[in-house]
Amino acid sequence: MTDWSPVRKLLVETTAGKGLSHRFVAGETLDEAAAVAAALNAEGAQVSLDFLGELVGDSTAAFEARDAYLACLERIGSDGLDANISVKLTHLGLGFDEALATDLLAHLAERALDIGTTITVDMEESAFTESVISVYEAVQPVAGNLGIAVQAYLYRTQPDLDRIIPLGGHVRLCKGAYAEPEDVAYPSRARVDSAFDDLSKRLMGEPGVLPAIATHDLPRIALAKEHGANRLAPWEFQMLYGVRRDVQAQLIEDGYPLRIYLPYGSAWYSYLTRRVAERPANLAFLLRAAAGK
Ligand SMILES: Cc1cc2nc3c(=O)[nH]c(=O)nc-3n(C[C@H](O)[C@H](O)[C@H](O)COP(=O)(O)OP(=O)(O)OC[C@H]3O[C@@H](n4cnc5c(N)ncnc54)[C@H](O)[C@@H]3O)c2cc1C
Repeated sequence: MTDWSPVRKLLVETTAGKGLSHRFVAGETLDEAAAVAAALNAEGAQVSLDFLGELVGDSTAAFEARDAYLACLERIGSDGLDANISVKLTHLGLGFDEALATDLLAHLAERALDIGTTITVDMEESAFTESVISVYEAVQPVAGNLGIAVQAYLYRTQPDLDRIIPLGGHVRLCKGAYAEPEDVAYPSRARVDSAFDDLSKRLMGEPGVLPAIATHDLPRIALAKEHGANRLAPWEFQMLYGVRRDVQAQLIEDGYPLRIYLPYGSAWYSYLTRRVAERPANLAFLLRAAAGK
């Protein structure tokens, strides 16, 4: 069902809306995404390409997503991009068929291995946390080139790491982007921040995984630097394309490895509204621009 809410109209139909979308999304096509990825590589950042989409309702759409990701992997190889891919398992059919999502992820992982790159499994709403981790547990021991995102706002994340860490790979620590009820997630920002810091400290102490600290929050970044200061194994920061570009540039200048999460594709609307929800100033910017001010 098409959602033609006023915000969607503003984003899709106005010059200001398109401008805001280009700030956070590389474009609708793989060509546009590859060009932006190459430019980010030239600035010293690695990239994670995200073909936008989630929660597909049938296997045709899941296979289409798989094929789009295969094309993306080929492009990473042919253009020599310093990039991996980020995948939402509900884009590969997890919402209705866990076995299908497992098979499609395994197929992508095999191709990524041929190309010499990795895949990060995004973490979605808490209704899917258990099945996302189960699929990861099924594919990562065979593939070996996966990583997974964990969300600091969930109470369950520490015990989940007991399952995830022994599998190696990379672990992307983020705060969590979905509206979750109080029985599964910390309701206060302060509790989420302190959970994030505890998890970042724990991951930095784990030599067998590559911690990817995914935040734009300056105190979290400062503490991660402290936690990682004596770490001998690699780790990295990750940030979203278009968010805190000043901080991104500074991290690169200071010599920290930084990977930029770069979304592309026609399904950019829900991604963008999530970014607007995180920071209402983005909406104010949009409304001002739409009003011509
Ligand atoms: C690389 C990466 C991958 C991610 N993957 C996932 C995932 O798999 N699953 C998931 O649930 N979430 C994911 N997220 C989103 C994450 O959970 C948060 O919702 C998001 O990063 C905002 O939290 P923050 O840590 O930046 O801190 P915040 O406290 O929200 O923000 C800190 C500061 O960053 C700036 N900022 C933050 N967001 C925006 C924005 N949208 N626009 C402009 N400025 C902003 C502001 O200056 C803000 O004050 C990912 C985030 C990153 C960076």
